[in-house]
Amino acid sequence: VSEGESSIVAVAVDAPLHAGMQEPLLYRVPAGQAAPAAGTPVRVPLGRRRALGVVWGGAEAAGAPPPEGMVLRELEGPLAAALPALPGSWRELVTFTAGYYHRGLGEVALSVLPPALRRTSPAALARRVARLGAGLAVPADAATAATARPSAARAPLHATALSADQAAAVLATEAAAAERAAGATPAPILLFGATGSGKTEVYLRAAEAALAAGGQVLVLVPEINLTPQLEARFTARFPGRVIATLHSGLPPARRLDHWLLAHLGHADLVLGTRTAVFTPMPRLSLIVVDEEHDASFKQQEGARWSARDLAVWRGRQLRVPVLLGSATPSLESWAQADAGRYRRVAMPARIGGGAWPVVRFADLAALPRPARGQPPVVLAPELLAAIEARRGRGQQSLVLLNRRGFAPVLWCGACGWKSGCPHCSAWRVFHKSDRTLRCHHCGFTERVPRACPDCGNLDIAPLGRGTEKLAEQLAAALPQARIARIDADTARRAGALQRDLAAVHAGDVDVIVGTQIVAKGHDFRRITLVAAVDPDGALFSSDFRAPERLFALLMQAAGRAGRDAAVAGGSEMWVQTAFPHHPLYAALAAHDHAAFAARQLEERAAIGLPPFVHLALLRAEAKELAVAEAFAREAAGLVAGAAPEAAAVTVHAPVPPALRRLAGAERVQLLLESQSRPALQRVLAAWLPQLHALRARHRGLLRYAVDVDPVAI
Ligand code: ADP
Ligand code: ZN
Ligand code: ZN
Repeated sequence: VSEGESSIVAVAVDAPLHAGMQEPLLYRVPAGQAAPAAGTPVRVPLGRRRALGVVWGGAEAAGAPPPEGMVLRELEGPLAAALPALPGSWRELVTFTAGYYHRGLGEVALSVLPPALRRTSPAALARRVARLGAGLAVPADAATAATARPSAARAPLHATALSADQAAAVLATEAAAAERAAGATPAPILLFGATGSGKTEVYLRAAEAALAAGGQVLVLVPEINLTPQLEARFTARFPGRVIATLHSGLPPARRLDHWLLAHLGHADLVLGTRTAVFTPMPRLSLIVVDEEHDASFKQQEGARWSARDLAVWRGRQLRVPVLLGSATPSLESWAQADAGRYRRVAMPARIGGGAWPVVRFADLAALPRPARGQPPVVLAPELLAAIEARRGRGQQSLVLLNRRGFAPVLWCGACGWKSGCPHCSAWRVFHKSDRTLRCHHCGFTERVPRACPDCGNLDIAPLGRGTEKLAEQLAAALPQARIARIDADTARRAGALQRDLAAVHAGDVDVIVGTQIVAKGHDFRRITLVAAVDPDGALFSSDFRAPERLFALLMQAAGRAGRDAAVAGGSEMWVQTAFPHHPLYAALAAHDHAAFAARQLEERAAIGLPPFVHLALLRAEAKELAVAEAFAREAAGLVAGAAPEAAAVTVHAPVPPALRRLAGAERVQLLLESQSRPALQRVLAAWLPQLHALRARHRGLLRYAVDVDPVAI
């Protein structure tokens, strides 16, 4: 922007978009001020409030000149002079994200900045930046020591020889770094490493090389719970380095500090959950995505971006190596590797030669019926005996049930009443510990009624079981066992999860009953038996990705068992199922992700599902189903005329999702699919703006939004 005449700048702000509104918004630079450079965080008036914005460029960046006679408002000025502008690569990433996921540029830009940035005053921010920059008074503080666990393995692995698998993987990362140095764009590496194969060591070695060359490293993990463990390993390996963690569990001021450390170039390593993919890092030279298959990399509100996919995009943009690690890679990444676009590096062997657990099936059909008046059978007798035998040898068992609460529904035998949620098409779950009925979808909670609300019958009974009930049943069936339940309910209190996990590590627990939060990532030493109870639901789900998720979960769970090579009796994984011969379980028993992936990909190719087609899902919500349906139907009708590429896009009939009603809103979804990603993109770009106008004609429509590359259907 030249200073004199056209002191107008385009600023990305988080304003709701109206039809025809151009983004970013134009502002006048106050007389006597230099126009702030693109990327500068600025304060601007917006409606009746002041807001944070990011300068996107001069007037041309808004796409259209201001309408004749329009009086532009004046921006207030930069947020803080000491804060460097967000780099061009960051703006490109945001622009791509907004375009690809079809959301507002300002909405995306502002939503991926640390929330505290909006609230700090210029003076406070300037002080903060100065403090962080001043000789880096950091190492001993927040960024490193505070969240590191003293119990972490401190033994430097440097002296330890890499396994043959690890050595080959490290070579692949070195080759990628060399390609980068030579000016080429390295292909992403898909590190297909069994649980316990030592993937983290490969990340560490790749990070070490990148840091030694003066670069910054970005490591993405799916869950906050997994950050302390990984952070401890990175801190132990790189004692002098500044490691910044970024996730929503951090106090806002700390999160802002860590983000600033990354942006200012002071942090060497950034370790964070999905939003961290947007962290500006001036010397970024390696991106690691751990557990790349995990669905939580997909943002589930606003712009529904995938941090995994954006990591790959950012890697290509900056020509830096991207390392995608998983024991059960997503079928998307697997297909990319099949096609030669990603480099697949397999690490099948576990460190220390730990054998894969023997997989055993407890056939639900063969379960003995309880005698009259006897309590129901808790687990197959042979499974129960196996758990007891493990306990006798001082070993631990993990019983996995992916349903928390005591019972998924309460039921009145006299009149048939069930504990439905008044706001959702779902049952409310009975939680015995605090005697509540809770909806796990909308959160609606009430005390358990003393009698049936419909007929007054006093004898209302729980149907089915969740972790709470299973833990209670196991305690009765195995009176000598020390049983711990770990799920989102027990983990709610601050520090509870860390405390429970510590008890497991210390050997104070014989049997863990838990949901998927214990199946992932944790490195348990004494667990030699893992049992999955009731996993069958996913085999017949309407969501085509359910089997993929189940398989990943079971493989992860199996990976918890027998990490030490020489445990007495080996290790075992049990699956209590009505379908012991299902191919998914056969692949699990053979520990064969490649076979599972090949089979699934074949099926998906035959039916025409991702990754062979590309999907976009329009979700519409209204108080009345008919309104949502009518909107979706008319929206569907507009696709054909939206763009010439519509011929390459199939529009399915609008249908209600599995959860038809959520928090008082009736929901309908409309699926668009195409074999051509560009065709789908062009149709969406032309079609979505038309829906603004359409909406006005459907009174009662609460909201609608598009989800590009949806992960749950
Ligand atoms: P993954 O992430 O692949 O499941 P980890 O990285 O957690 O596996 O490694 C499993 C265990 O093996 C860890 O305790 C780690 O410290 C150890 N380990 C990794 N590489 C080696 C090695 N080369 N020699 C000895 N131990 C190793
Ligand atoms: Zn009743
Ligand atoms: Zn509800």
